[in-house]
Amino acid sequence: MSLKDKTAIVTGSNSGIGLGIARALAREGADVVLNSFTDSEDDHALASEIAQDHGVVARYIQADMSKAEECRGLIEKAGACDILVNNAGIQHVAPIDSFPAEKWDAIIAINMNSVFHTTAAALPMMRKAGWGRVINVASGHGLRASPFKSAYVTAKHGVVGMTKVVGLETAKEPITCNAICPGYVLTPLVEAQIPDTAKEYGISEDEAVEKVILAKQPSKEFVTVEQLAGIAVFLCSDSAAQITGTSIAADGGWTAQ
Ligand code: NAD
Repeated sequence: MSLKDKTAIVTGSNSGIGLGIARALAREGADVVLNSFTDSEDDHALASEIAQDHGVVARYIQADMSKAEECRGLIEKAGACDILVNNAGIQHVAPIDSFPAEKWDAIIAINMNSVFHTTAAALPMMRKAGWGRVINVASGHGLRASPFKSAYVTAKHGVVGMTKVVGLETAKEPITCNAICPGYVLTPLVEAQIPDTAKEYGISEDEAVEKVILAKQPSKEFVTVEQLAGIAVFLCSDSAAQITGTSIAADGGWTAQ
């Protein structure tokens, strides 16, 4: 398979899973657009590094996924979008009765509403090109709940639902829309929630990893960024042309329980 001449836009891709997916798509020949809300030299250097490593066109476009117009603007500025990976996401861990309203709004906007805006802007480009792939990085928390994650679980369940709708709306076209539902991956997003989880449960950080975080994952191993990137590449392949509107769990058995 080659993704040469395809343009992939990956939201929230200056770090973690998004960066891994962007690298893997570039390795398959796709031109890539990296994104986050920052606009630093390091952000643009990542794009240059990918271009150099894989001989593709790689750009970094700053856009804040908490803002509807910037979500749509990202797709418009990119000018083409054959593969859209909706990956940007944040987390906040607190009981619902003390969950800060501004954190709720930010998580719903970045983790869920942005998927609506980017997908709406990208589908006409995919239709024009006669091919398209929408890949939503949801979560095991799109399929199951945990305490203290009201906004995240709500947003990720929303993304899984939206994935089904877009799969149905594009079913007769050469476009697919699927969600990847990772279990725990050791990225900055998870590293940042270890102290809060320890605090909420009144245990040490080591215990929080072992007894709370990986407790859900029967494999007792973190999922890797490379494994998730491999699933994204597979979803772009011809073998996956009839996979649409569904969720692929990569969670060491978490949601089998
Ligand atoms: P990460 O913190 O490394 O990456 C998140 C990315 O989103 C970063 O590039 C960040 O800059 C970007 N981002 C944050 N706010 C943004 C905004 N307003 N506009 C644009 N970009 C923004 O974390 P990650 O673990 O790589 O998370 C990536 C996705 O995977 C998220 O949607 C997350 O919910 C999901 N996920 C992660 C795990 C895990 O265990 N790490 C598990 C399941 C799902």
